[in-house]
Amino acid sequence: MSVDLGDRRDQAVRAAVEQGLLSEAEPVVAMLDVAGIRAAASALRTAFAAVTGAPVLHAFAVKATPLVPVLALLHAEGIGAEVASPGELALARAAGLPPDRTVLDSPAKTVAELRQALALGIAVNADNPQELARLDTLVSGAPPSSPLGLRVNPQIGGGSIDALSTATATSKFGVALRDEGARAWVVRAFLGRPWLTRLHAHSGSQGMPLDLMAEGIRTVYELAEEINTAAGRQQIDTVDIGGGLPVNFASDEQTPTFAAYAQLLAQRVPGLFDGRYGLVTEFGRSLLAKHGTVLARVEYAKSAGARPIAVTHAGVQVATRSVYDPASWPLRIASYDSQGLPKAGPVVAQDIAGPACFAGDLLAVGRALPVLEQGDVIAALDTGAYYFTAHYSYNSLPRPGVHGFAVRPDGKVRFTTVRAAQTVDQIVAESGGGRADALRLTGSNSDSNFPQGRLPHPGGSMKP
Ligand SMILES: *Cc1c(COP(=O)(O)O)cnc(C)c1O
Repeated sequence: MSVDLGDRRDQAVRAAVEQGLLSEAEPVVAMLDVAGIRAAASALRTAFAAVTGAPVLHAFAVKATPLVPVLALLHAEGIGAEVASPGELALARAAGLPPDRTVLDSPAKTVAELRQALALGIAVNADNPQELARLDTLVSGAPPSSPLGLRVNPQIGGGSIDALSTATATSKFGVALRDEGARAWVVRAFLGRPWLTRLHAHSGSQGMPLDLMAEGIRTVYELAEEINTAAGRQQIDTVDIGGGLPVNFASDEQTPTFAAYAQLLAQRVPGLFDGRYGLVTEFGRSLLAKHGTVLARVEYAKSAGARPIAVTHAGVQVATRSVYDPASWPLRIASYDSQGLPKAGPVVAQDIAGPACFAGDLLAVGRALPVLEQGDVIAALDTGAYYFTAHYSYNSLPRPGVHGFAVRPDGKVRFTTVRAAQTVDQIVAESGGGRADALRLTGSNSDSNFPQGRLPHPGGSMKP
């Protein structure tokens, strides 16, 4: 498996150079390995089917890779969608995800978002008492067709990355279960709302130890049992265990596996897997990270203070977290020559720099790699989730094109465009290009500021 992944990637890099995917005009592109994504989806389904006979909805966390063709591919592979904004919901719908394969989470849902989700019949996990009160109003009258749940924070503590730890004592997510009176309040909230049938927890992402994640899920399971006992019936029929399986960014090995995690959960929380509870999962990074690669040309090779520096076109715009927090998000870099062949030869410590105009725009510092030269190609590995799909528009750098690839049996690599590169015209348009006068004319009392024939209506100059 891991050998396949690296081999396919090398073949794709070669083909990307040969087929002109990477070019003077597009010196940075992203690739997605279709076979790898399919295999990950299948591994996830198999892992949970092995530990429970109850229905399981695997809802891909759309924020990890918000690309319609990716969501459509996952849908074809039996994976639904977890969305957390109107944009993500629209992407899921554009990909053909039916309501019963879609789950809406988000700590800041508006009334309009809740109303839309209920009208569509999409599952919703409420985050807090005020959101629950909104649901009360919206479901009064007719019983909802949406499965509705409540997100709780088991407050089990954080992992190694603060920004991604969602089950700390003071996390902004869900109802904090260990706060005084909170647990009893949750039980009462369920007893008073027969239509509230799910519990949800997502304890964190990259950096969370599996044991801690299992503990969070055990806490939620015990709460479900407590509520069902108090209700005298199985009011909670489904537990949403969130995502958060960490990804190995150090090698091509895919570990921990979905199977290992599912087995650990079944061992630690057997009651959740005995068939009484349906499950929802919300994995993001673990499904996509290892199947995406950023390729960039080395525009210049230089040195400073005896440190060789490769100035490439991949930097903060495609690897924001790694650039700003390199200790938490180290990226593997692979090096290829101008023909797209893996580079060999003696290695030296080099900096891999991006194109942005600030000193910290580095993908790697002092990394041991074969000496990079002008025209070579670097690959930032394991970037299929939360990297090029979470573009940062610093320096008005364009969103790079994204291309899916498949290696045919004869060894030929076929690319299909998932997302075209953002054009300079689009950048201008999205940056107020059609409103060049919007500020210059705002607040001006002197008509002489307005060019002849372009006088706005009175009071109309602030309008978009
Ligand atoms: C981000 C998020 C996920 C996905 O996390 P991964 O670490 O990518 O698996 C799942 N559920 C919720 C509620 C999230 O916020």
